[in-house]
Amino acid sequence: MELETLAVHAGHQVDAATGAVAPPIYPSTNYERSAGGGSPDRFYYAIFDNPNRHMLEEAMLHLEGAELACAFSSGSAAAMAVFQALAPRSHVIAPIELFHGTARLLRDHLTNMGISASFVDMGDTAAVAAALRPDTRLIWIETPANPLLGVADIRALCALAASAHVCTAVDNSSMTAAGQRPLEHGADLVVYSTTKFISGHGDVVGGMVLGKRSCGLWPSIRAFQQHIGAVPSPFDCWLLLRSLRTLPHRMRIHCANAARLADYLSAHPAVSRVLYPGLPAHRNHDVAVRQMRLFGGLLSIRVKGGKAAAIATTAATRLFIRASSFGGTESLIEHRASSPIQTMGSGSGQSIPDDLLRLSVGLEHVDDLMADIDQALHRAIA
Ligand SMILES: *Cc1c(COP(=O)(O)O)cnc(C)c1O
Repeated sequence: MELETLAVHAGHQVDAATGAVAPPIYPSTNYERSAGGGSPDRFYYAIFDNPNRHMLEEAMLHLEGAELACAFSSGSAAAMAVFQALAPRSHVIAPIELFHGTARLLRDHLTNMGISASFVDMGDTAAVAAALRPDTRLIWIETPANPLLGVADIRALCALAASAHVCTAVDNSSMTAAGQRPLEHGADLVVYSTTKFISGHGDVVGGMVLGKRSCGLWPSIRAFQQHIGAVPSPFDCWLLLRSLRTLPHRMRIHCANAARLADYLSAHPAVSRVLYPGLPAHRNHDVAVRQMRLFGGLLSIRVKGGKAAAIATTAATRLFIRASSFGGTESLIEHRASSPIQTMGSGSGQSIPDDLLRLSVGLEHVDDLMADIDQALHRAIA
């Protein structure tokens, strides 16, 4: 079945008790045991599993083409579930261009558990090969990464990892299964912040790990979910499942709007550079064409006139909202270099140019978005 059909039907059943078409929310923390003292067939206690979480995991699993899925209360908890599954003294290879929170986990928290990390340019597969060590256990991939929108070759990196008996995990938060399916390119695990495009409405924090049963890290990832307690509430799972139903359609519009804006801004007199995987001028455009079905809803621009003009642009937009995060219905604009998370220091050594603005392109009409960014750029450089 096609993705649109799976998105509507995966994990869906008409409720047997009432005939309800939309799934009920099950807030219950516990499930009745049999009179003979036996455990219930399916559910026992909500932190171990519950109907809403189960439905969400089932649906995500079908969209991603995975065999197992584990929902978490945030993308950060999902990433931590993967990292903690590594044995002490493991070495991780991660991109320099890495989500700041993941970089901080590796730099500040995993080191306490005896796990070390090397940060490399993942747009360059040979650089990753050179960073492999006998104790390397995981290659962490994020593509496209933000805010510089670099692209890594998932297939080449996974082949390299497989030949060295190393696991691969791909953070797919910025693409979703509608834009890119890393398991088809050989990845062992896919990790999400479902806070972003999966939620799609900027109103849920969540995470997910999906993958193949053969990945040796699974038992520990599942145990981490069930024992550590970083699990989403039934209501958050219900909201995320509701969001999944429209995911392919939302992603198509996010990405079409972003592609149109990328073209438009490439020719704009106030913009020195547009960073977007869909542009032929992108460093790894050939890889992007091979592995991505859509080129994403994020793009970054570098503004002529430097930092002051970039910040003035964010002050002058009327539709684009000055805010962090991405993937919601409304378009966002952010001056990353001055964001609070950036001033905390990048754990991976990534540096963000101070004339750079990241755009999360929403679901508005693209003509209105182009008009808004155009008037803001003109006012900023006036
Ligand atoms: C937001 C984000 C995360 C962290 O997710 P939270 O849900 O905020 O904990 C991880 N990776 C990427 C690419 C993200 O954008």
